[in-house]
Amino acid sequence: MRGVVMHAPGDVRVEDRPDARIEEPTDAVIRVTQACICGSDLWPYRGLEPVKDAPMGHEYVGVVEQIGDAVTQVKVGDLVVGSFVASDNTCPICRAGYQSRCVHQVMMGVIGTQAEHARIPLADGTLVPVPGTPTEAQARSLLAASDVLGTGWFAAVAAEAGPGKTVAVVGDGAVGLCGILAAKQLGADRIIAMSRHADRQALARTFGATDIVEERGEAGIARVKELTDGLGAHSTVEAVGNQLSMDQAIGVTRPGGHVGFVGVSHDVQLQGENLFFSSVHLHGGPAPVRRFLPDLIDLIMTDKIDPGVVFDLTLPLDRAAEGYRAMDERRATKVLLTI
Ligand SMILES: [Zn+2]
Repeated sequence: MRGVVMHAPGDVRVEDRPDARIEEPTDAVIRVTQACICGSDLWPYRGLEPVKDAPMGHEYVGVVEQIGDAVTQVKVGDLVVGSFVASDNTCPICRAGYQSRCVHQVMMGVIGTQAEHARIPLADGTLVPVPGTPTEAQARSLLAASDVLGTGWFAAVAAEAGPGKTVAVVGDGAVGLCGILAAKQLGADRIIAMSRHADRQALARTFGATDIVEERGEAGIARVKELTDGLGAHSTVEAVGNQLSMDQAIGVTRPGGHVGFVGVSHDVQLQGENLFFSSVHLHGGPAPVRRFLPDLIDLIMTDKIDPGVVFDLTLPLDRAAEGYRAMDERRATKVLLTI
């Protein structure tokens, strides 16, 4: 089968990979209908994470083609969405809502879903069938649910976004934008998007942002405080994962407020004394997207949300390398790969 392989930083190729097949009785094999390139795929692409000959991709929508003998909850022919972490959905960690840290977790990035087919471990716990036949727009949004929407949603929930709250969102990539959409759906009064890119600011407003702050660092913190009677936001979504964004997220949050951090952390250090006197709640990590998938699929299939507009470039799988370049050069926010 054809699939994306990253041989080294900056070296992405589409080539023949071993066919996906059932390896465990709990596996399914899907024909991937849509995959995409994630902001987190840019870390190895830019040489900020080690990479060698790695299959790529962890987001997917597809049709079940084969199931193992122990699979009972999905059947051949089902259109399915799953998260970027395969999970049994039955262990105590899953039952508590943290499927991304399932005791049997398998990171889908290791399997690589930017490919014609993918093996899905723990299919019963991982895959959620989609009712009906999605329109093209709904199909795009289902793909977004696989990671960026689910991750933005978790960040907003972790930040306790809701009625009466002012939410600040640090990061204007696909996850940050979906965090804005989530905060709006969760009923936030005011949503401050921190962004300096005109096209992303426009999308942020479409998703529900009420204010835009272009400043960063201390100036950004000062501006958010100015907008919030000197107090800071109640709830902050951190969707980048570096020192500047984490410091900014904690800095714009008022004492007693909540930070939901979902940017994959790279060399972030928290200074104890600053953290101590910030008096904020910190909750984050790899988003348990599986917790939210049934509700997100319902919101998408009833046209209540349209997160799929974060995809601003669509390419066939064979041109994936172009997609990586476009995201690396910030010419695209999020690239959808058709298969
Ligand atoms: Zn589990």
